[in-house]
Amino acid sequence: MLCKTDGVVLKQTKFGEGDLILTVFTKKMGKVQAVAKGVRKSRGKFTGSTQLFAYGEFVLFKGRDLYQVSQVDLKESFYQLREDITKLTYGAYILELTESIVTEGQTNNRLFHTLLGCLSVLTKLEKDFETVVKAYELKLLSYSGYRPELDRCAYCGNPGENIFKFSSKEGGTICRGCFGQDMYAMKISPTTINVMKYLINMDLEQIARLRVKPDIMEELNKIMKHYISTHLDKSQFKSLQFLDTMKEIHNT
Ligand SMILES: [Zn+2]
Repeated sequence: MLCKTDGVVLKQTKFGEGDLILTVFTKKMGKVQAVAKGVRKSRGKFTGSTQLFAYGEFVLFKGRDLYQVSQVDLKESFYQLREDITKLTYGAYILELTESIVTEGQTNNRLFHTLLGCLSVLTKLEKDFETVVKAYELKLLSYSGYRPELDRCAYCGNPGENIFKFSSKEGGTICRGCFGQDMYAMKISPTTINVMKYLINMDLEQIARLRVKPDIMEELNKIMKHYISTHLDKSQFKSLQFLDTMKEIHNT
């Protein structure tokens, strides 16, 4: 059985002598694992289309248990992501995060297009990548059923002035009366709430021009890290650990 679908390479694993197993986020079938035969021996056959970030039209052949990549028509390699190590690491994180949430057989068109948009915006950006990355995290969660409640208390439903904490467990902001429901709830300022709403609703091109103050970014980072580790079955991202190490080196 042959299947033709657009896809983005999220992950590569070496397999056998000269093969690769690619994890591809496809438009038609969600996450797919497919063997690319002989790529490590003769690069010519797929010319860059099996590398991380590669976006193209994949022709997949369903074998007995695994898919096989028959052909790829490369549309975009996002090669410029590789020009800057910080940008590349954020790019790698975007792929890792996406890989951990998309599932086999389940399509997610909004997320698929947002991923392409995010890689394309990152490619063009020269600095301040963090805002776009936070926006991608929030959009990814929102399009996968984890949109945080930011307009009222996620526990009692009351809107109003009394919102002052964010609870990962309850899935959003909580009010003064309810914060006892979650001892891990974190302080959230009204500005951070507004920034989060902006990042969920606006498009990435526009978000790339937004400047977020360092203290707000710090609060947002803390909240997102906790929220992601609560709802995705994953708290350790290889790419993020690398970024933290780089930040430490930079600060000493
Ligand atoms: Zn409440």
